[in-house]
Amino acid sequence: MNRAYYIQEYYPRTGRFEDWFYLLYRGDTSPIYAYVIPKRELLCLGIGIHKTAPPTFERGMARFKEWLRDDLGFRDDGARRREGFSVPFGNVVLGEGPILLAGDAAGFCYPPTGEGITYAVQSGAAAAASVMEADPPRAHGQHMAAGRPARASMSRSPRATARRTE
Ligand SMILES: Cc1cc2nc3c(=O)[nH]c(=O)nc-3n(C[C@H](O)[C@H](O)[C@H](O)COP(=O)(O)OP(=O)(O)OC[C@H]3O[C@@H](n4cnc5c(N)ncnc54)[C@H](O)[C@@H]3O)c2cc1C
Repeated sequence: MNRAYYIQEYYPRTGRFEDWFYLLYRGDTSPIYAYVIPKRELLCLGIGIHKTAPPTFERGMARFKEWLRDDLGFRDDGARRREGFSVPFGNVVLGEGPILLAGDAAGFCYPPTGEGITYAVQSGAAAAASVMEADPPRAHGQHMAAGRPARASMSRSPRATARRTE
């Protein structure tokens, strides 16, 4: 499956950033998008990269920091940590034979934004509905058996008990 990668670094908080999620489309920093997420005393700077489209992470992040410095007063005091995540990009594969794929596993992610939560919920619900329609008696039995431990533990929880006695 084709994949894009989001790599982000955490810097000590400097510059003129409000507590907002900043999403920035700038082709010279990322072929997808770049973002800043202020988190208390840190700034999380991230860019999306793809192996077939420049720039590389190193060049994109260097340009991004220069731009944040010039426009928003960011000062690079060194990254405290770096982390990365992959997201599917471009093609949808729904599974084969008895195997159903949903969400990221099926490639349900919108390439321009990397948005996949809605599609994961919708395709997961569609997969569940297909199972129920294809083999209702067995699917229903499995669903009931799978839910039994969760229901038992909920009925023992203090909140559930409080609700029952209200
Ligand atoms: C940095 C970043 C930012 C994003 N921002 C947004 C956003 O703003 N809006 C948006 O809509 N989407 C966003 N996405 C995409 C979104 O997170 C995914 O599309 C969505 O979470 C996919 O849901 P999923 O259930 O298919 O997969 P996941 O959320 O990845 O869930 C899969 C789960 O399966 C577990 N798992 C994996 N292997 C096994 C195994 N062998 N056994 C048991 N469990 C296993 C994993 O631990 C994980 O918990 C973002 C993604 C990234 C990386």
